[in-house]
Amino acid sequence: MALLDIRVLGDPILRQATTPVGTVTDDLRRLAQDMLETMYVARGIGLAAPQVGRTERLAVVDIEDGPMVMINPEIVRTEGPTEKSEEGCLSIPEVYGDVERPTRITVRYMDADGAIVERDADELLARCIQHEVDHLDGKLFIDYLGPFKRRTALAKWTREKEQYPGNIRRLTAEEIAEHHHNGEEL
Ligand code: ZN
Repeated sequence: MALLDIRVLGDPILRQATTPVGTVTDDLRRLAQDMLETMYVARGIGLAAPQVGRTERLAVVDIEDGPMVMINPEIVRTEGPTEKSEEGCLSIPEVYGDVERPTRITVRYMDADGAIVERDADELLARCIQHEVDHLDGKLFIDYLGPFKRRTALAKWTREKEQYPGNIRRLTAEEIAEHHHNGEEL
């Protein structure tokens, strides 16, 4: 497995739409594994292909209940009340904001074996899946913030982004050494 560089806000790929995957190849499975590994080291709970510079419609999630590889994911149903909760993003380190989303969803996707799966999710998993599917449509959590909170978030990012020349976040030796699975950034 290989650790991938994470693209941060400012890289145009984060705003591009992704391309649906036709067939699941070994290359795609390897990419999914590399994304999971990268996500764990970065202490995240979700990662979408554009965040590692790829255009396949693919995202991975693990809220500490096992890895989920979602190919061509689609939210087919949302239900229940919406709820506001804080989100972060591995592509916008140190920036957080409250996002209102449905608390219960059904997602349909193809798994790493090419099987079509329909899965209900609620609470954190529902939030995480919606955040990742947004990534596949070129959408970021800061897009949901009101004008004032968005401006504040972007001002913070203007300072943070200096650490990421070329909009690249390379995982540090320290992060790799720690390699915890308990993260909070999507
Ligand atoms: Zn994100």
